[in-house]
Amino acid sequence: MTTHVGLIGYPLGHSISPAFQQAALDHYGLDWRYERWETPPDQVPAFVASLRNGDRVGSNVTVPNKQVVVPLLDALDDTASAIGAVNTIVREADGRLVGYNTDCTGFVRALREQGGFEPAGKNVVLLGAGGSARAVVYSLLQADVGTLGIANRTLGRARQVVDGFARLAAEQAAALYTLEEGSSHFEEALRQAHLVVNATSIGMWHGPAEGRSPLEGHTLQPGTLVYDLVYNPEQTPLLTQAQEAGCPTLGGLAMLVYQGAEAFERWTGKPAPIEVMFAAARGALGMQSPT
Ligand code: NAP
Repeated sequence: MTTHVGLIGYPLGHSISPAFQQAALDHYGLDWRYERWETPPDQVPAFVASLRNGDRVGSNVTVPNKQVVVPLLDALDDTASAIGAVNTIVREADGRLVGYNTDCTGFVRALREQGGFEPAGKNVVLLGAGGSARAVVYSLLQADVGTLGIANRTLGRARQVVDGFARLAAEQAAALYTLEEGSSHFEEALRQAHLVVNATSIGMWHGPAEGRSPLEGHTLQPGTLVYDLVYNPEQTPLLTQAQEAGCPTLGGLAMLVYQGAEAFERWTGKPAPIEVMFAAARGALGMQSPT
């Protein structure tokens, strides 16, 4: 009997997870299929119930269902529980459905291994206050970041992110900014930053601000590492702006592959074939390149 895993989200048009997960399964010659399970939020409870028996043994979860699945599971690991969002579901040997958040480990592993950056004690400016921004904040706190500034179009959402993390609220370590030009406080934070992370969807292909950089009109300091979570296109307008300013850069593809690698290991119990996954991910991105 073929075993199935897949991706629960809606819509799923441009996801490249099926390409690199299937490549990893095929690498081991497993009789497994990774499928697109396009599921609007109101159909998620029934779909998650279908993971309890039969040949579907787990899933990834993406927008807009990462929080929707939380109350449907039997247990969460510490990270998923702290963030309140799940991106990986595993049916354990005892039949329980357990939720994990591998975005966090993917984010920080890419930062350390591909960016050569250790966050402990460093000044970080985070752009964005959505779901992925929450995963970034959690990961940076776990890694003992020095200072954290959060800039977002909607200041109230940035405030909610801070309030959601007791440690941030308690230590007053987070300063909040809007993305508007002309804020001297924000310019100073950018000047002091060792790392700038973009967790907005600005610059994403087919997104709300395709072809744009979240830091248009702002100045980056040469040497600041600029990490864009947007992975499609691989070379985003922010990364181009950063390179022109003399900054080292890291794109979002590594985080995507690493979060998928941890999910693969949790489902199959086998070491993820990272290079195979990167090659398949790049191949899939190339095939849907916007240019
Ligand atoms: P989300 O929860 O929808 O949050 C979107 C964020 O972008 C919010 O901060 C929003 O600001 C901001 N934003 C959207 N359109 C904007 C605009 N026109 N001008 C200014 N700000 C705008 O999305 P998410 O799940 O966090 O994902 C954000 C990005 O990260 C996406 O591009 C996604 O592909 C990428 N991502 C990558 C990985 C990876 O593995 N590399 C993983 C997760 C996400 P407001 O609060 O003001 O609306």
